Amino acid sequence: MAERFYVNTPPSPGLFTLTGPEAHHLAAVCRVQVGETIVLFCGDGGEWAARVVGVERRAVQLDVGERREPTRERWAELIVAAPLPKGDRASFLIEKLTELGVTRFIPLLTTRTVVQPGAGKTEKLRRGVIEASKQCGRNRLMVVDEPRAWREVAVAAVWPPLRCLADPAGTAVPPLRGQAAIVAVGPEGGMTPDEVALARDHGWQLVGLGPRILRVETAAVMLAALAN
Ligand code: SAH
Repeated sequence: MAERFYVNTPPSPGLFTLTGPEAHHLAAVCRVQVGETIVLFCGDGGEWAARVVGVERRAVQLDVGERREPTRERWAELIVAAPLPKGDRASFLIEKLTELGVTRFIPLLTTRTVVQPGAGKTEKLRRGVIEASKQCGRNRLMVVDEPRAWREVAVAAVWPPLRCLADPAGTAVPPLRGQAAIVAVGPEGGMTPDEVALARDHGWQLVGLGPRILRVETAAVMLAALAN
């Protein structure tokens, strides 16, 4: 796959000058040469092949082709809600969920949540989505919400009817492949009985993921993988 670059607005076909950090990355880090072909994407589902026609220190001139829309996205939405694990494990989680085609991620605040995401955290996660999308060929960005309380997410009426909450005492995971669904995972300390009861009362199925206790990110990635 050609090197992929993110631009924040859709480029129009024809001559286009890329500036800012992506241009710097392309020129100074990747050392692109005139005549090479790269791919631009802006997260709206499209991508554009572009031939490099000029390289300066802070700008790269491109000849952009027509928009195309290869199918690399799920048909149905798949929402994952989970508390953010600590440190690098949060970046790992975002990278894997992006690769697995999750359409939206909701960082959860629960009674036993340890990591209270600080200001700037959501932006960092969104940059992680772009990085993973470059690598895996995704042209539609996984949406990352601001952190939300589980009590609010559990009771919301907007979700697809297929709602699963991972719980070590849960039953088999229903078929998720190709289905619109929301799946949720609790914090390392587990959901409180109240939080579990709230989910049950609002149409969530409690699903088990095997006899061992998984980390938050393992449980979330496993559910996303089962949906592929
Ligand atoms: N001490 C907690 C485990 C927390 S693990 C407890 O016993 O409940 C963090 C989260 O990952 C859990 O809240 C659950 O959502 C999910 N999880 C971990 N292992 C799981 C398993 N085997 N089956 C289902 N969910 C699991």
